[in-house]
Amino acid sequence: MDINALIEEALDSGFNHAAELRAETLRFLPEVREMCSADRCHSYNKNWVCPPACGTLEECSARASGFSHGIIVQSECELEDSFDFETMQALERRHQKNFEKLASRLRERYPGLLALGAGGCTFCEKCTYPDAPCRFPDRAISSMEANGLWVSEVCERNHIPYNYGPNHMAYTSCILVE
Ligand code: SF4
Repeated sequence: MDINALIEEALDSGFNHAAELRAETLRFLPEVREMCSADRCHSYNKNWVCPPACGTLEECSARASGFSHGIIVQSECELEDSFDFETMQALERRHQKNFEKLASRLRERYPGLLALGAGGCTFCEKCTYPDAPCRFPDRAISSMEANGLWVSEVCERNHIPYNYGPNHMAYTSCILVE
């Protein structure tokens, strides 16, 4: 496993920052899942890969337990001020698009990879949840938070910044490959 090559590939795919993710640093925290149920991101109980449909914390932890290597990827930019919602939304769209593309490309080499994004799955314009099965169960992307991961802690434990300073914004996702 050449992690540095994967990091380079992520940077070439449009991410601003990337770093190695060591799976042993991941902690699956009930407090993070409790924040999901507060529905601050408006995804709780709205798609197949967010709680409660994504499974229990124990199931999420078990899914990740077969991996030891991965990468963290980030999209980051400067804002005009803290009300610069247009730039924030553009950054989110860029991050989601690049992450879906990178996960899809890596899946050709690592078919069993686990991609954990930022926010609920956006593959379909309207999720089938809860009326019909997921349209793309092999490609749907769950979020780090839905899996109980405290994103700033994951960054800190893997020596990559989470916060890039005042008037900067960053989206963080990760992919476990092996
Ligand atoms: S792939 Fe589509 S149906 Fe499946 S979770 Fe994502 S949005 Fe929902």
